[in-house]
Amino acid sequence: MHPTDQKRKRPDYRVQPCNDVFTCRVCGWPVGPEGAGSHHRNHCPNCLSSVHLDDEPGDRAAGCGGTMEPVAVWVRRGGEWAVIHRCKVCGVLHSNRVAADDNPALLMSLAVRPLAEPPFPLSRLKDLL
Ligand SMILES: [Zn+2]
Ligand SMILES: [Zn+2]
Repeated sequence: MHPTDQKRKRPDYRVQPCNDVFTCRVCGWPVGPEGAGSHHRNHCPNCLSSVHLDDEPGDRAAGCGGTMEPVAVWVRRGGEWAVIHRCKVCGVLHSNRVAADDNPALLMSLAVRPLAEPPFPLSRLKDLL
């Protein structure tokens, strides 16, 4: 087989829609494309876990395959939320857009986690105000 043919066999979800249905390896949730909105899914809507498959979103170029756990949320320009995922195997950090049906309670708990566990006593806040 010609080497370029080999290369073409790998799906590239930057340019083609992803209709994969898979079972979440962390919580067992059946994950399909329905309900995600206009973008393909890269994480489980129930537990927000992901798998380290991409170097750039959708390219499927990473050979790692480690479980990526959600560690934080941040707000993109325009107010859209994104989840920061950290690979448990190699430690890489990825930012992924939130899907329409992602677990809202889990997103909120990620968002308030730093406020619930400040690295200093809350009583020190009054010294700063
Ligand atoms: Zn899950
Ligand atoms: Zn990894």
